Amino acid sequence: MARIRPQKRWLLALSWGVCWACGNSKIDGRPHHVDPGSGRAKSVHLALGIPTDRDSSDDLLLVKTQYALSYNPRRGGPNWVSWNLNASHFGPVKRYRGKFLPDESLPAGVYRVRHEDYLGSGYDRGHMVQSEERTATPEDNIATFLLTNILPQTHELNAGPWLALEEECNSLARSQGKELFVIAGGIYSEAPAVIGQGVAVPDAYFKVAVVLERGQGPADVTTSTRVLAAQFPNVHQEVAKSWVAYRVSVDAIEQAIGYDLLSDIDSAVQQSIEATVERGR
Ligand code: MN
Ligand code: MN
Repeated sequence: MARIRPQKRWLLALSWGVCWACGNSKIDGRPHHVDPGSGRAKSVHLALGIPTDRDSSDDLLLVKTQYALSYNPRRGGPNWVSWNLNASHFGPVKRYRGKFLPDESLPAGVYRVRHEDYLGSGYDRGHMVQSEERTATPEDNIATFLLTNILPQTHELNAGPWLALEEECNSLARSQGKELFVIAGGIYSEAPAVIGQGVAVPDAYFKVAVVLERGQGPADVTTSTRVLAAQFPNVHQEVAKSWVAYRVSVDAIEQAIGYDLLSDIDSAVQQSIEATVERGR
């Protein structure tokens, strides 16, 4: 999907406001990368574009050192989380042990989802950016436990094909020297089930990973760039362990979520890679 998006400048305006708030938090105290060419804050985690849909009223853009996301206050979780992944993100840090954390960088008046909202719900606190993918410093790891990076996932999915795709991405980034740009989030029905104080439960999940060579960026994406894309059911029943059974095109995901992904990739290239479902393997 390529279309004019007038709401994008509102999102950017909002992101400035939210980033002011981030400056007060321990986790987000470091300055964001600024692209001198464009003159606006440009996070590496948004290098392939800021996913946007037709309604920006439920998109609060949070740009952190460790990842970027669009938070939906009506659903109590992210619309999407977007992050860069390469070998530098893996380190010696042990997994944080403690309760998942309310995200205090959200604007005043927005409910901060709490660890307890998931208690007894029957759903895992499902990481979008996986804990293991941010193990270079304790701050990086703890940031993945902010509840703005978390959505309710069935254990069958979280420990099944979702984990399998995480492991594939980690292998590419960590052992095979690749540069990944990843986007993940939920897919919702019109009236989703709700847990705790207003955390909507997705019907399904999506994940897209664009696989480049280390150091490459959006200008290096071609029609032969590998793109992993999958859509998984969020169900309490046994699902295939392998993620490849759930491969779809990026176009199918865009249609399901209503967001334009990979929007900063050249439009002819974008159209081509989004229409293709990876085969084989
Ligand atoms: Mn998980
Ligand atoms: Mn697109």
